[in-house]
Amino acid sequence: MDHRNGRRKRQKLTPEAQFRSTLDHCSKTKDLSSAISLYESAASPILTLNNLNSFLYICSNSLSDPQTRESAIDLGFKLFQRHSTENFKPNEATLTAVARLAAAKGDGAYAFELAKSVKDHGVAPKLRTFVPALICFCDGGAADEAYEVEAYVESLGLRLEESELAALLKVSVEAGKEQRVYEYLHKLRANLRGISESTVAIIESWFRGKKASEVGLIVEPNLIKDVITRNGGGWHGLGWIGDGEWIVRRTSISPDGRCCSCHEQLVCVDTDRSETEKFAQSVASLAMEREVKSNFKEFEEWLEQHSDYETVIDGANIGLYQQNFAEGSFSISQLDAVVKEVHDKSKKWPLIVLHSKRVRSLLEDASKRELIKEWMDRGALYGTPYGSNDDWYWLYAAVKLKGLLVTNDEMRDHIFELLGSNFFFRWKERHQVRYTFVKGALKLMMPPSYSVIIQESEKGSWHVPVAAGEASDECSRTWLCATRAPPETEDISDNHP
Ligand SMILES: [Zn+2]
Repeated sequence: MDHRNGRRKRQKLTPEAQFRSTLDHCSKTKDLSSAISLYESAASPILTLNNLNSFLYICSNSLSDPQTRESAIDLGFKLFQRHSTENFKPNEATLTAVARLAAAKGDGAYAFELAKSVKDHGVAPKLRTFVPALICFCDGGAADEAYEVEAYVESLGLRLEESELAALLKVSVEAGKEQRVYEYLHKLRANLRGISESTVAIIESWFRGKKASEVGLIVEPNLIKDVITRNGGGWHGLGWIGDGEWIVRRTSISPDGRCCSCHEQLVCVDTDRSETEKFAQSVASLAMEREVKSNFKEFEEWLEQHSDYETVIDGANIGLYQQNFAEGSFSISQLDAVVKEVHDKSKKWPLIVLHSKRVRSLLEDASKRELIKEWMDRGALYGTPYGSNDDWYWLYAAVKLKGLLVTNDEMRDHIFELLGSNFFFRWKERHQVRYTFVKGALKLMMPPSYSVIIQESEKGSWHVPVAAGEASDECSRTWLCATRAPPETEDISDNHP
């Protein structure tokens, strides 16, 4: 019965709808050969832009398989050419897919041309449209062409990501362009925290190579120091310093920030004050869009009058830590332990941010009332309004006051994604205090004493943090250490037979 109904339904489809439904199926299963038969068997394939893009999507997804690669390129170009002669306007997805096909053929110049033509169709350009040309040039060793794509992409205000920077670094290493290698290391430093293993391998190959041992400047040490201070620490950007071969090792960093291989001290690069202020404003404006505006405005004003806190506490995160959610229990003693610890250490009361609803229910409990009242009397408690998301409140307070934030919340929810990752990452690294309770005993984990970013020292050494898995202990992270050999007292090379 059901089966027959289903058939009847299908028979009612118009040829266009049937074509589309088969194409959707091919697209979902990434089935190139069925897509080709569909195209060839249709009396007059209905090439709307939507259909064309689906075909091209299937083609560009079939490039990695050597079995389907050739026919994918053939079909893709055939369709695109057919489309070009008719009165279609390709969109960004069309051009990105065809650029991928061109790059797969090794035709970087055409891939670049297609990507640039996005602007002729009045579509906002995306990084992904330019990636095929960039990677094609890099893989083909065409360094200068790759730099041209990079310059074009930057002129559009788009920013390259790690995989593109790594490709540019690799082609520069292979071409022995020391100035470019230097620039890409700095771009990675400025944009990333942990560097992925494959990128670290490229950096390592540079330092182990002959060219790296030949480059180097002698710069007045005081000048280097001045520039590092001016940059806010962690880099000077003056160029390769020193001379001779590099000693390259995988190592770790001790908790106090010393390299276990060359014993250099890594530095802590705090976030810049004006950048922090800008970030606080963006938190506030996003909060205002999502919260009852007057509530958040009131909090901002309140905070201005009470800007003396050094530490902000995410009350709910601590009170609910390891509690039974089903029972809805809230551990006031855990929260109290954190408050006491912070107070003992800093001799100042922290700001506890907690929902008003929670505060009210704690006040109703006679055994907890006194403590809550004490916090209120000390001005250590802010109750966020009914219906609010307290995340906005504690985050804004901690950023605005340039203080520490006690929470185990990794701040990866969608609301935090709106804030962008680069600055937020650096801010968290310097300001987030995590905690555990081991057999009921509190342990606060302060931010690391050094920054987990690529660091260039005044001696010209480089330290590169390798990306680690989630939530691993900072001390177990692998770093790449590249430093110049200390001056030798004897020239060992003369002793070779
Ligand atoms: Zn080192």
